[in-house]
Amino acid sequence: MMLEVKNLTKYYDISGGLMSRLSAGLKLLKAVDHIGFSVPEGKTFGLVGESGCGKSTTARLITRLIPATEGEVFFQGRDILRLPKREMRELRRHVQMIFQDPYASLNPRMRIIEVVGRPLSHFQGLKGRKRRDRAAELLDLVGLRPEQLDRYPHEFSGGQRQRIGIARALAAGPKLIIADEPVSSLDVSVQAQVLNLLKKLQRELKLSLIFISHDLNVVGYLADIVAVMYAGKIMEIAPVAQIFNAPLNPYTKALLASNPTVGSYMETVRSPLKGEVPLPVNPPSGCRLEPRCPIRVDRCKTIEPMLEEKRTLHRVACHEV
Ligand code: ADP
Ligand code: MG
Repeated sequence: MMLEVKNLTKYYDISGGLMSRLSAGLKLLKAVDHIGFSVPEGKTFGLVGESGCGKSTTARLITRLIPATEGEVFFQGRDILRLPKREMRELRRHVQMIFQDPYASLNPRMRIIEVVGRPLSHFQGLKGRKRRDRAAELLDLVGLRPEQLDRYPHEFSGGQRQRIGIARALAAGPKLIIADEPVSSLDVSVQAQVLNLLKKLQRELKLSLIFISHDLNVVGYLADIVAVMYAGKIMEIAPVAQIFNAPLNPYTKALLASNPTVGSYMETVRSPLKGEVPLPVNPPSGCRLEPRCPIRVDRCKTIEPMLEEKRTLHRVACHEV
């Protein structure tokens, strides 16, 4: 396995000041709550769920952009969350991120040669001509032209900026890339191009990819394995064909039924089930889906369903399947 995530958890204390704490008690927002999954070498692992379900938090925990409340993240056997600083630096090379917003994630004062060149010198020790040549190769690889190296980010379109973001991630020489909604802020017309590029690069470079999106269709296009998240929990994990052809969890079924078109993140994310997506603040002990679930029974209120293998390689958290 390239990556094994175990019991990964992030709670935010949102109790507020001392007075509200005294009157209302501790309020914990359980953004990511004891989740686990594995990412095989050279495969794409898709993470899907409605806005606010904990996808980005999961990505930030794995890359140690934020500290975990609990859990382990094994990268090729070593627990990332407990690595000392020096080893963490080496690890940063191997685990790279592509962010949602290609406008915010590129420094407007840096020419592209610097954006892509920094990881080349930092992680690969390349300098001068060699660095420039490699940066040009990377630009070519993501469908841009080498002569664009001396331009600034504002001279590029959204789709081109995301290509630069991909080149920057590749420059480090990673084994695993985490792409968090990489096309959600792009025009619909360029989303497919960037998705095709990611798919091609993942295959050709034999990368492991964690691909995150709120859109099941988009995830289905890239992923080998899909995990469906809801309110901080994983509800179902299965090979992509199983998710689309034989989903078991009622939430996955609802996501499929709502059949969202490949659309922009700016559109309202429509909820596939009746009722609101609950904020997991001091959630009850049972299933998070229970208030909205079409097949709920009494014990769903009080007993949390664990992810269990119901079919080969197909794990589901639901008492009723
Ligand atoms: P997603 O990426 O799936 O849309 P996020 O991982 O960004 O969801 O957020 C999961 C939940 O955690 C949301 O309810 C969000 O409001 C909450 N959250 C994220 N960051 C913080 C924070 N720094 N403080 C408090 N709550 C947070
Ligand atoms: Mg997010």
